Parts: sequence; C-alpha cells; structure tokens
Amino acid sequence: MKIAVAKGDGIGPEIMDAVLSIFNANNVPLEYEIVEMGKWVFDKGFNNGMTPEAKQTIENLGLLYKGPMETPKGKGVKSINVTARKTWNTYANKRDFQTLHGVDTVFSKAGIPINITVVRENIEDTYGGIEHMLTHDVALSRRFITRPGSMQVIRYAFEMARQKNAKRITCGHKANIMKITDGLFLECFYEVAKEYPDLKADDIIVDDLCMKLVTRPDNFDVVVLTNLQGDIVSDLCAGLVGGLGFAPSANIGDHISIFEAVHGTAPDIAGKNIANPTALLLSGLAMLRHVGLTENAAIIENALLYTLENGVHTGDFGDKSTPAVNTTQFAEAIISNFGKQPQAGAKEIIANKPGTPTPMKLQSNAMMVSTEAEEETIVGVDLFIESDEQPAAIAEKCQRHAGVKFKLVNISNRGTQVWPTGSVYTNLVNQYNVRFESIEDYPLNQQDVIGLYVSMSGNFKICSFELLNMWGDKKAYSLAQGQ
Ligand code: NAD
Repeated sequence: MKIAVAKGDGIGPEIMDAVLSIFNANNVPLEYEIVEMGKWVFDKGFNNGMTPEAKQTIENLGLLYKGPMETPKGKGVKSINVTARKTWNTYANKRDFQTLHGVDTVFSKAGIPINITVVRENIEDTYGGIEHMLTHDVALSRRFITRPGSMQVIRYAFEMARQKNAKRITCGHKANIMKITDGLFLECFYEVAKEYPDLKADDIIVDDLCMKLVTRPDNFDVVVLTNLQGDIVSDLCAGLVGGLGFAPSANIGDHISIFEAVHGTAPDIAGKNIANPTALLLSGLAMLRHVGLTENAAIIENALLYTLENGVHTGDFGDKSTPAVNTTQFAEAIISNFGKQPQAGAKEIIANKPGTPTPMKLQSNAMMVSTEAEEETIVGVDLFIESDEQPAAIAEKCQRHAGVKFKLVNISNRGTQVWPTGSVYTNLVNQYNVRFESIEDYPLNQQDVIGLYVSMSGNFKICSFELLNMWGDKKAYSLAQGQ
C-alpha cells in the first residue's frame, strides 16, 4: 500500500525521517510517495502551498502523512493545514490523549490515569474564515454549523467510541448562548445517540467541561465538539498528558484522511536534531491502525512506551537529571526496544488486517442535504446598518421606510436591544441591527425585502442583511438580548 508523505517545514523533516526509520526497521508494509507541500512551495508561487502534482497524488492515494507546515504570514494566503483539511473534507479531527509513563504530569504523579479522545468538527464553524469589516470599528465573522456536517462528525465519534469500547460519549457545546448554532449541533448529537443505546451519551457546557477536565480528567472518555471549541479543548487535553510533544491528530474523511502531529514547525529548534518525534509517531500509529496494520502499530507503540518508561527523553520533557538524547537517538532507542513490553499501558498485539482499499474516485462534489425540510415563510428581515446616531433617531428614520408591509420591531447593538426599550448604560458601536417584521403576518417575499433595502439605503449604509424565516411555527432566528 502506498501513502503520500509531506515532510513539512521546520522540525518536520527531522521528525518525519525519525519516524519513517522506525517504520522501516519494523518492516511496516507501506510505500511512501513524497509530495511537495509547505512554506517552500508557497515561496515557489503556489498559493495553496502544494503543487498540482502533490494534490493529484494525495487524491489518488487517499492518505497523507504530514509533518508540520508553516504558512507565510502577511501574504494573504490561507493556512495550508486548514486548506488541506477543508479541501478534502476530513470532517473529523480525532486526538487521543493518554497517560504515558515516563512523561510526568500532575495527574500521573497523583496516580490519575487519562485516556480521553477528543473529536473536533474540522470544516465548519468560524474556520470558514469568512470575515468582513462592516464598519471601520466592527468586524464580523460568519459561523456556519450545518446539520449534515454535524451529523457526519458526530456519527464518526459514536462509531469510533464503540470501537474503542468507550463507556461514555460527551458533547461539549455552548448551546445555552448560541441556541441556534450550537443548539443544532447538540440536537444532532442526541439524534445520533438514539442509534447507540450501548453508549452513555451526555452533554456539558464547554466552560464547565474545561473546569472538569482539569479537575477530574479520568471522568471523560470520548468528547465531541464544534471546531473552535474542539481546537481549544484538545490543546487543553494535550496539556493534561504532557504537552504538544505528545499530542497526535488524525483528520478523518470518507475518501481522504490526513495524519499529523498537533504541534507546529518549532522554528526555535529546527535543524538541530533535538525535536521530540513522539507526537508524529503517535499520529503515524493511528494511521497504521486506520489501514489495518494493527500488529506493527502495537509492537512500535509498546516499544515507545517501554522507551519512555525507561527514562529515555528528548530535551523538551523527562527527568532533567538524566541527559537528553537527540531525535535520531530517540528513534534508535525505540527500534532497539521492539518486542519489549511496557509495565503500564501495553497494547495487545492484533494481527494485521488487509488495508483499506484505495478510495473511489469522485466525479463531482457530493451535495449533502437533509430531506426533512419544513415549510418556510419569510416573516421579516434584519438589516445591519452603519450609524453613529442614537437609537431613537434611527428608529424614527427606519419607521419612515417601513411602508405598508413592514413594521420596525426592534433595534439592537452588539446583540443587546436598545429600542424600543433599553438602557442608556449600554455602550454602542456604529453598527446596529434593525429588525423589521411583516405586518399582521403578511406573507413576504424576497422582492418585498429588496424594496425595503432600497428604501432604507436612502438613509443608511446597509452592511448586510438576513431574512427572518419561520419553519412551520418555529422561528429560524434568534431574539436580541432583552427582546
Ligand atoms: P509550535 O508547536 O511550532 O511550537 C511551540 C513550542 O513548542 C516551541 O517552543 C517549540 O520548540 C515547542 N515544540 C513544538 N513541537 C515540538 C517537538 N516536537 N519537540 C520539542 N519541542 C517542540 O508552535 P508555534 O511556534 O506557534 O508555530 C510555529 C509554526 O508552526 C507557525 O508557522 C504555525 O503556523 C505552524 N503550525 C503548524 C501546524 C501544523 O502544521 N499542523 C500546527 C501548529 C502550528
């Protein structure tokens, strides 16, 4: 089986070479096709950080094992890491965090074992990077949470939890505040949970989750979250088990998957052969298991655990009273420990299975649409306008434009209602949301909304607008705070 390998920037080539030397010494039956990705590819003029040949190879092979990569700053190009995850729809980011003997943490010293898997949605949320300055003072980021996207990642999390023999799966969210976006994610979680009665499914507000993770991490098993919250919580979990040097990451998709370490290119230590290859190795072991090479993965992991238990360490961790080894020596120590059993956490050796077949080639983009859409009616519009006037003055102008179909119901500033009621203690910025609704449920259409937009534009710069839709008798929009 052949996989694509991109060594990456900074410490990437050093740690990738170290890991591949471990794989080769263990006769891992994989062939590697090295592809061109990373900062130096941006520098050659490829705006997405990869050559067309690299893209083609990865799409043909379906698996990319990558070192950390740097995206040039100040050139307006998007992160290559995020681009790769999004382009190939690797919708689930899975990170396993386990206690490693030999890697001292407050929890290992207290005898509290950690074995947490964080599954982070990998495509949506604010990571669309769709951002606009609405006024000189006001920036807006669009946060997309979709039903099909949420279902994909949550289904993966449940399936993986079952395979892991997990007892509990927890959804972290902020649905108490973001009732529509996080509310949708949570709704999908419980919808999928019905199909897995063997797993205890529960949910927790993300701030409470963070507090409980740092006090009782052993209470958690599998945690699934939206993209940004998952990003933060997974780094928190990396800290629980010893830091980024021990945090592996798998970006799983239906056709293409990417395995990489969580850490970056560590420019401060690049080229010195002192970086810790453990996170990349652990990611590689997840990749071996993904393709059915369970025996190789277990032998190498046991050798790694044995090596750590025996106090062998690179400079970034471990007992400072024993000298650190360099990256190459660390890899050599693991190789010399093949066949040895660690005292704690030894992995069962399960015979290799046939590899996952090369993915089917797609001919067009898959459209993911939920089938159960309810009847939709436009009942109003939110116009986001620029103004540095007081709310009452804005209301007076808006009412002149309302015409026979609309009534002005509410004005808010940064989500807090300031008209018809509000407080003078609410600070304002120069961007308001004015909400118009239809008079007596007059059925509106898009032309009515555009008519209002044109009329209002005589008085205001309208930065953007959103339709207010009803689905059956359910509002498909939020109310302002205080409304
Ligand atoms: P970083 O993870 O590269 O480094 C943070 C600190 O951790 C540094 O002190 C570094 O020396 C140390 N460190 C990281 N990995 C280590 C290892 N394997 N062994 C020993 N020490 C290690 O984070 P950063 O400095 O914020 O980012 C540097 C660059 O990496 C940036 O260009 C960033 O965009 C990129 N980055 C890439 C990825 C990725 O490819 N997935 C992820 C994060 C950051």
